[in-house]
Amino acid sequence: MRLLFLGPPGAGKGTIAELTSQAYDIPHISTGDIFRMNIRNKTDLGTQVQQILASGDLVPDSITIKMVHNRLAEDDAQKGFILDGFPRTIAQADALAVFTAIDHAVNFIASRELIIKRLSGRRVAKESGKIYHMTYNPPKVDGKCDITGEPIIQRPDDKEDAVANRLEVYEQQTAPLISYYREKGLLRDVDASGTPEEIFDRVEKLIQ
Ligand code: AMP
Repeated sequence: MRLLFLGPPGAGKGTIAELTSQAYDIPHISTGDIFRMNIRNKTDLGTQVQQILASGDLVPDSITIKMVHNRLAEDDAQKGFILDGFPRTIAQADALAVFTAIDHAVNFIASRELIIKRLSGRRVAKESGKIYHMTYNPPKVDGKCDITGEPIIQRPDDKEDAVANRLEVYEQQTAPLISYYREKGLLRDVDASGTPEEIFDRVEKLIQ
């Protein structure tokens, strides 16, 4: 199964991608996670993209496309994958179509109010990659990851200024992908409100 998850930041793509990855045994490939891992490990790529991520702008297509191309060539991606956060521009979607076909583009639909609520309460554990929400999905021990016990933190780009920019960038550069995939007959709209389990159920019905 080759899936891509489209939708604004805060729509729940990462959380549902994790559930889908476990259920279908296919890798969850998040370009945002790969960039953040490079920043954490202070690689050349990490240094190059650190400021861009903090501001909420997009990393240049040339860098992002090459990175995804390499990732999709790895063994575990041959049986299928979930692309989360890629493509984000028409140029990226055109490039993707050259190196692989996809089965479904799942479009997560969420109101602006829900997005802001989700992003402002979102906390992440850097090492385990687990995503929490202060209200909807808090860790068992306050402020600590259930898996590793590390402190959970707010992503710098989940702070108010960066969020406004990310939503603007989404509208201008990524939302056009909705008609792009609809015209190809690949778009599957999903209501992204409710609990992760409810959303995952809806996604399963769409892709089965
Ligand atoms: P995400 O974790 O998907 O919200 O991505 C976090 C940030 O990583 C974005 O705000 C961008 O700065 C960068 N990024 C992630 N995916 C892409 C992409 N496909 N194209 C360009 N920049 C990206």
